[in-house]
Amino acid sequence: MNNISKISKNKCNGCSACYNSCLKNAILMKEDEEGFVYPEIQTDKCINCGKCLNVCPNYNLKTLNVDEVAYACYSKDINQHMVSSSGGFFAEAAKYILSKNGTIYGAAFNNDMKVEHIGISRIEDLNKLTGTKYVQSKIGDCFNLIKNDLRKDKYVLFSGTPCQVAGLKNFLNRDYDKLICIDLICHGVPSPEVWKRYISEKFGDRKVINMKFRNKENGISNVLLQFELDNGELYSEAYKDCLYIQGFINNYYTRRSCFSCSFKGKNRYSDITIGDFWSINEFHNEMTNKYGVSAVIAHTNKGKALIESITENLSICGAKSTEIAVWNESLNEPAKLTKYRSMFYSLWQDDTVDNVIRNLMSIKKENQIENKCFLKKMYERIKKWLV
Ligand SMILES: Cc1cc2nc3c(=O)[nH]c(=O)nc-3n(C[C@H](O)[C@H](O)[C@H](O)COP(=O)(O)OP(=O)(O)OC[C@H]3O[C@@H](n4cnc5c(N)ncnc54)[C@H](O)[C@@H]3O)c2cc1C
Repeated sequence: MNNISKISKNKCNGCSACYNSCLKNAILMKEDEEGFVYPEIQTDKCINCGKCLNVCPNYNLKTLNVDEVAYACYSKDINQHMVSSSGGFFAEAAKYILSKNGTIYGAAFNNDMKVEHIGISRIEDLNKLTGTKYVQSKIGDCFNLIKNDLRKDKYVLFSGTPCQVAGLKNFLNRDYDKLICIDLICHGVPSPEVWKRYISEKFGDRKVINMKFRNKENGISNVLLQFELDNGELYSEAYKDCLYIQGFINNYYTRRSCFSCSFKGKNRYSDITIGDFWSINEFHNEMTNKYGVSAVIAHTNKGKALIESITENLSICGAKSTEIAVWNESLNEPAKLTKYRSMFYSLWQDDTVDNVIRNLMSIKKENQIENKCFLKKMYERIKKWLV
């Protein structure tokens, strides 16, 4: 067996580089019982050529030590800033590549509110890509489409998770001057099936036609999730009260491979890394902004050149990656596996997603109180013993 089935589920990040590389169409990306896609080999078609293994970023694991030139910034265009998740750096970079007749590949909602990567080449479509989507995105055929664009000597901007960028780079297997890759500071990706269930349980027969994980009308510290229904109704939920977000943050349905992610810190394949600059007021108070600030880290000359080309559209200052990491451990650390994850997956078939998360949160709280009481008792005993 010389194919992708050698890669264990704990390692496969679902980037689909293997699927895109197979000339025999012998790989299907199939959803498992946790709602994540994994490659499945069709043995009657597979010729064991090993191409799928060679492009797998986890099979061909490299140790990189990329440059880190960091910035804090936000778009000067307030409308753009408002529709972006943090400072809107991504959109400004995308506009620049579009002005060169390039194509932008990024995550978008489809008509069923599933998240998938698409390519756009018109500024009118940029809003499909802006805004974070806390669901693992499906790459589909994008890597092959990107290869075609690059062969036609077009500019391409790809934006995705660090493992998706690693998959794309391995798939292409050579550098292209006109390709820019932006990866996210990534907490870990939640299950698409859990997302699907969450929406259908919440809205039933009513169809959701769009949503925002971060509506920033009330500022970045009072973010709302906002759902738009086909009857024109808007439904909002405070970020901090949303159980789907709580389950995401607590890693109840994060992909298994995220717990040993190899694409953290300086081990990145991207030209630029972007995320939220949560610690902005501690280090660059003058840049603090009600609608959020982007953390941007350039790793390559191409990345630095792109940032220089768009500085006039940004409020920007130099920063350090260590400053970004202060309230953002996902920059350097993989997601943390919790015992509540297996509990979630043993319960979710028999109850609503909301109920399972609510129950797990209260079990967690009780455990924390018990642990605290236990530690307090121990401390009292030790104190008595010492006297
Ligand atoms: C699952 C996930 C976890 C994240 N965890 C963190 C974190 O721990 N710390 C942090 O600082 N930032 C995190 N981010 C990134 C953050 O939410 C913003 O996306 C980022 O700051 C970019 O903001 P922006 O204003 O520049 O652009 P935006 O307009 O918000 O950026 C949109 C870009 O992000 C990409 N994107 C959106 N959703 C996905 C997705 N599901 N899969 C792949 N690419 C996607 C799109 O392709 C698009 O190009 C995470 C994002 C995701 C999707």
